[in-house]
Amino acid sequence: MTTVRILPELLSNQIAAGEVVERPSSVVKELVENSIDAGASAITIEIEKSGKSLIRVSDDGIGLSRDDALLSIERYATSKIFKTEDLFCISTMGFRGEALPSIASVSKFTLVTRAENKDTGTRIEILGGKVRNVSDVGAPVGTMVEVKDLFFNTPARKKFLKSDNTEISHISDAIAGIALGHPNIRFRLFSNKSLHKNFPASDHLFPRAVNVLGTEVSKKMTEIRYSGTGLTLSGYCVFPDIVRNTGSRIFLFVNRRLVYDRGLISAIFQGYRGRLMKGKYPLVVLFIEIPFDAVDVNVHPTKREVRFFNHQEVYEAVFRAVDHALSNARKEGSRGQTAELEKPPHLQGFYPEGPMFERDSPGVEQGARAWGYPEKKFFEKAPAKRESLIPEPIQASVFHPDPPRILGQVMGTYILAESEAGLLLIDQHAAHERIVYEALKKKLNSSGMASQTLLVPETLELSHKESDILLGLLPHLSSLGIEVEPFGGTTFIIKSVPSIISQKAMAPILTEIIETSLVDKNEFSKDRWLDECLILMACHKAVRANLRMNVMEMESLLRDLEKCENPLHCPHGRPIRVTLSKNDLEKLFKRIV
Ligand code: ADP
Ligand code: MG
Repeated sequence: MTTVRILPELLSNQIAAGEVVERPSSVVKELVENSIDAGASAITIEIEKSGKSLIRVSDDGIGLSRDDALLSIERYATSKIFKTEDLFCISTMGFRGEALPSIASVSKFTLVTRAENKDTGTRIEILGGKVRNVSDVGAPVGTMVEVKDLFFNTPARKKFLKSDNTEISHISDAIAGIALGHPNIRFRLFSNKSLHKNFPASDHLFPRAVNVLGTEVSKKMTEIRYSGTGLTLSGYCVFPDIVRNTGSRIFLFVNRRLVYDRGLISAIFQGYRGRLMKGKYPLVVLFIEIPFDAVDVNVHPTKREVRFFNHQEVYEAVFRAVDHALSNARKEGSRGQTAELEKPPHLQGFYPEGPMFERDSPGVEQGARAWGYPEKKFFEKAPAKRESLIPEPIQASVFHPDPPRILGQVMGTYILAESEAGLLLIDQHAAHERIVYEALKKKLNSSGMASQTLLVPETLELSHKESDILLGLLPHLSSLGIEVEPFGGTTFIIKSVPSIISQKAMAPILTEIIETSLVDKNEFSKDRWLDECLILMACHKAVRANLRMNVMEMESLLRDLEKCENPLHCPHGRPIRVTLSKNDLEKLFKRIV
């Protein structure tokens, strides 16, 4: 016979730890989020052996009284939610009251804390979930949590930890994400006593974003701004000349909380559409502010997932805002206003002439020393980073306002030209594809596609699956000027085609359209699908490689290209031109090194 028993508390804490505490970086994340919730303005994270032997997080937040400190290590003890209704309007980072007891159940745990209005602090020591010692201590206002020998009593879990390098990079990533969400807080990460990451406090996101994404992005960022009913978007996206092979540099925040949402990522890709190579990921920091009751953040224990009640609207706004930011930046750029771009007006007073200095109050420094932070190393390394934060104007060479001078054609495929930026190589097929694609798109959006009726209709034989797909596509096809009718069974006849497409090209295009629809069934299928059709048509229509062109033809191609919204990438995202600047050439010939 089995008896139902309430789980012993230690066991249930360890089970919860399985959800909350996966690896050192999850401990860091929970502790740092607690410090943020406590109103800290400076947070220091110290780790030894990638957090496996020590994680210490100290803050200058409001601290806890002795009673509250004792409560904080009880399961479901939280100062942050009192009613079920509160679950629906969560504004703090943590809210489950599980982190501290969970972490304490799988480590040698020490909490030292002092509340503002108290003279003495409290020290609590817990070993594998059992309270060993509670005492009064002298301490600065704020809280320090020390986690030693993580998983010492759960060896199975310890075995799953990865190499030091991997664990440190998880920790760095976790801190980078949180730091982006809180530019006004100073964060420092020390690994084995030396400064690993330093994020000075700042009034604006820009320097923090540059600090996290890398200094090379400072000239390549454009601001995302959108404000609609119940939805505000802000942040930066980086021009696609800098990309990554993974999505690790896409940071999404919903109400300041770092989240992961496939729909949002897909919306961002949609915004970058036609600008990115396949398999590449952009660098983006995006903040979504939305009423607390329009989003559910309590979906997953580690709180990375969200559910929007009106997701389609949010995705649509994200897609448009990113697209707008990227195309606008280009337009402004060609008018020579790019310098303003990365230094928005409200920032003008923010960047000092010289390097910035610490902006912390003396009180904070005092507190910091009292926790025994390794201050010296920080000051040794800090200034170099500060200076590199000051942005320089965008290079004018990204955009070419003057028409390039044609020098010739090479390999029947590339146009060779000279412009202010240097020597240009232009892929004629990619360029023409872009021109035709934008022309088609304009037509589709304004007057609709003109179509021509075929004198001799063409037939199309399909498989069952394909004919099913095509039946569903028929109404959309007609908006593209393509008229297709069922002809019994799985046979169809093509009655008319867009006037710019030759009759012969239509059947292969249709087959490709059907194949694309077979694989591509995501949220944006309709818009995306139409776009895909335009790309296909543009590709079939565009001049091929290995086609001789005369100077006049090349000139007219480049003129048309300059008029395009995005003259830098073909609709598939491949670059249209490669520029070799004077500097590049001098380097190639070793005139300079
Ligand atoms: P939660 O964050 O979900 O409330 P935790 O277990 O992480 O749960 O923390 C429990 C409680 O301990 C918090 O609600 C908060 O009151 C207190 N606490 C934890 N860390 C700190 C800190 N750094 N400063 C002040 N209070 C803290
Ligand atoms: Mg918490």
